[in-house]
Amino acid sequence: KAKQEGRNRYHLFTPGLTESALRRISMENQLRQTASDNGFTVYYQPKVNLHDNTIVGMEALIRWIQPDGTIISPAEFIPLAEETGLIVPIGEQVLEAACLDTVELNQRFGTNLKVSVNLSLRQFKQEQLMKNIMDIIAMTAICPSCLELEITESTVMDDIEQTKTILEKMDKLGITLSIDDFGTGYSSLSHLKNMPMHTLKIDQSFVAGLPHNKSDQKLVKAIMSLARSFDLSTVAEGIETPEQYNYMRELGCEVMQGYYYSPPVPLEEFAALIEASLKADF
Ligand code: C2E
Ligand code: MG
Ligand code: MG
Ligand code: MG
Repeated sequence: KAKQEGRNRYHLFTPGLTESALRRISMENQLRQTASDNGFTVYYQPKVNLHDNTIVGMEALIRWIQPDGTIISPAEFIPLAEETGLIVPIGEQVLEAACLDTVELNQRFGTNLKVSVNLSLRQFKQEQLMKNIMDIIAMTAICPSCLELEITESTVMDDIEQTKTILEKMDKLGITLSIDDFGTGYSSLSHLKNMPMHTLKIDQSFVAGLPHNKSDQKLVKAIMSLARSFDLSTVAEGIETPEQYNYMRELGCEVMQGYYYSPPVPLEEFAALIEASLKADF
């Protein structure tokens, strides 16, 4: 008995198999299984035009819904998906679902909504990327002008020449290109000016301090004027209050995305939001 206890104790303290390592392995296995079952869900968060409050598009945001209904946020599993390469098949599933849903919504409502899909660094660097995107566009029959890809500032700056080549191909297809989380990385402005980018997304960490925080005011104003001189449209992320909404509108920001209008919601709830916004127009 003593021996058994000893063994158990030994097992508990095995170096290398720490609790967090075990959790990681188990999460990786579950990720792999869910990817092979096409078991992820895509939520949509409206992007709203600040002049007339119409929904102009939506961001596709992945959700991992557990059998018990718990939702795991992408912040928790995207980094592991990146490290393991699982982000490649997972990202393709998100892109395909987003394009299919958008074509269907636009048919159903007679709209011209544009869907934004996030691409992480590893996805952006994979060789098959352009082929996969073109296949999905062909298969879903989405008009490329209804598709926007969001890449972060650090992805843009990772390998400037390679990035530029890829972005030019996407731009030629008619896809809109957006820099996500702008202001949180180290963009070299001289490189930015040569990229075929269309939109700057002002990171929510700057919006959070509005309308009172003086340095956030200065940052947001600087980003807005930068966008204007580079002829880029702007989206303010993380608008939560009417004060933030008014502040960004007065600065001339065109589009907002945030809990103030709606959090990311499942497809059918998003369809209900479109329906309501179309009714409000008439
Ligand atoms: P992101 O692309 O910057 O997406 C915006 C995040 O801000 C979303 O978090 C959204 O739910 C959240 N958000 C929107 N409005 C508000 C607001 O008013 N207040 C606050 N506090 N937050 C707001 P989410 O959905 O948890 O996604 C987190 C990140 O995970 C995304 O940041 C993106 O980088 C990544 N991600 C999500 N889906 C995908 C995907 O399909 N593929 C890849 N590669 N990354 C994804
Ligand atoms: Mg994004
Ligand atoms: Mg963002
Ligand atoms: Mg972000």
